[in-house]
Amino acid sequence: MDLRSGQAFWPIRSGLLANYPRLENSMTCDVVIMGAGITGALIADKLSKEGASVIVLDKRDVARGSTSASTALLQYEIDTHLSELIQKRGKEQAERAYWLCRDAIYKVEDLCKTFKDDCGFERKPSFYYASSKEDVSGIELEYSVRKAAGFTLELWHEADISERFSFSAPAGLYSVDGAQVDAYRLAHRLLARALEQGAQVFDRTEVTQISPLEKSVTLEMAGGIDINAKKLVFASGYESQTYLKEKVVKLKSSYALVTEPLVRFSGWHERCLIWESARPYLYLRTTEEGRAIVGGEDIPFRNPKARDKLLAQKQTILEEKMSKLFPAIPFETAYSWTGTFGETKDGLAYIGESPEYPNAYFALGYGGNGITYSVVATEIIADLFLGKTNHNAEVFRFGR
Ligand SMILES: Cc1cc2nc3c(=O)[nH]c(=O)nc-3n(C[C@H](O)[C@H](O)[C@H](O)COP(=O)(O)OP(=O)(O)OC[C@H]3O[C@@H](n4cnc5c(N)ncnc54)[C@H](O)[C@@H]3O)c2cc1C
Repeated sequence: MDLRSGQAFWPIRSGLLANYPRLENSMTCDVVIMGAGITGALIADKLSKEGASVIVLDKRDVARGSTSASTALLQYEIDTHLSELIQKRGKEQAERAYWLCRDAIYKVEDLCKTFKDDCGFERKPSFYYASSKEDVSGIELEYSVRKAAGFTLELWHEADISERFSFSAPAGLYSVDGAQVDAYRLAHRLLARALEQGAQVFDRTEVTQISPLEKSVTLEMAGGIDINAKKLVFASGYESQTYLKEKVVKLKSSYALVTEPLVRFSGWHERCLIWESARPYLYLRTTEEGRAIVGGEDIPFRNPKARDKLLAQKQTILEEKMSKLFPAIPFETAYSWTGTFGETKDGLAYIGESPEYPNAYFALGYGGNGITYSVVATEIIADLFLGKTNHNAEVFRFGR
């Protein structure tokens, strides 16, 4: 399955930062990670640092799946309002999920600080506006529920919004906890460090068969090559559903564009992250070079051809929406692309062990906040691997 098409910005901006050999010989290791996107890269970095022998495999070039298509807004607010998540998962687990995503933003910041390259990380407040008057009561409820859970945020009314932006909305939530990053660069930096820590990375190597054994797991590749590992980590992104009987994800496609660098940001308060209450929602951010990224117009995923056919039309709609919000910002689209992502029934990722696969962990960061979930998955899986209890695993468990 093609995960994306069009011209995703990040690999164009930075080029191919590294390439790795194909796997040519059978091997053994402690942990084999299937997938070298941001999730596999985070886990490889962490587990190799812990001293495990780690092999990472990807059937594409590394970080060329959804990670290269990501608009990489880092938000703790997931697609399901906290007020709604409490109904679905109970107060304790819902609040814990929100706090874990909030803390993940600052963990990405700490990680980026460990490299010479900041990977485009910048703290940015997040602004969530009511797309219509009907959504105001939901936003007010969300404000009070999040306040009660201890989050720092402000409820803005129409006048507050018009004062700060060139557009207006009947209400909105302003949160200080937010950031943006270049997930493609970050994945490359993490994999390079994992290599220094003893991990081995192979790209253009497709896993064709997975056989769980009593105390290990064997992965088969073309040409009779295999890897036997004590543990397998599925960091295989949106293609992972094919390995599971339990239906965990509904696939969608999202569209995005990046502008040429802008000369001014008139009416864009603090160049903050912006999104809205309508579903599907529009989302916007800026980049370190002063470009704007505009995304949205999600549709259910049928097949890559149907998704790609709509790219030009969706680009035009996104351009119109950007112009409507920011009439005083002249812009020109530089690149546009489309990519596939997944939604779960409660908006939470699936992380940890599934009874369907002994000796394996899953790191399926499905949802609008895939990257923060990848950070949460890394911690849970590292603990499980090291034989430690991680109470957060319960929040993201299979069979829920
Ligand atoms: C347009 C778009 C916008 C997004 N915006 C945001 C956002 O603003 N914020 C956010 O947090 N998230 C966002 N996301 C989601 C985020 O990008 C993903 O959650 C994240 O990139 C997933 O990373 P991953 O490493 O799990 O998956 P991927 O990057 O897809 O990596 C999985 C890898 O597994 C490999 N693989 C699969 N099967 C096999 C196999 N059999 N053998 C070998 N290798 C295999 C694939 O080749 C792939 O490289 C967005 C996604 C899209 C598409």
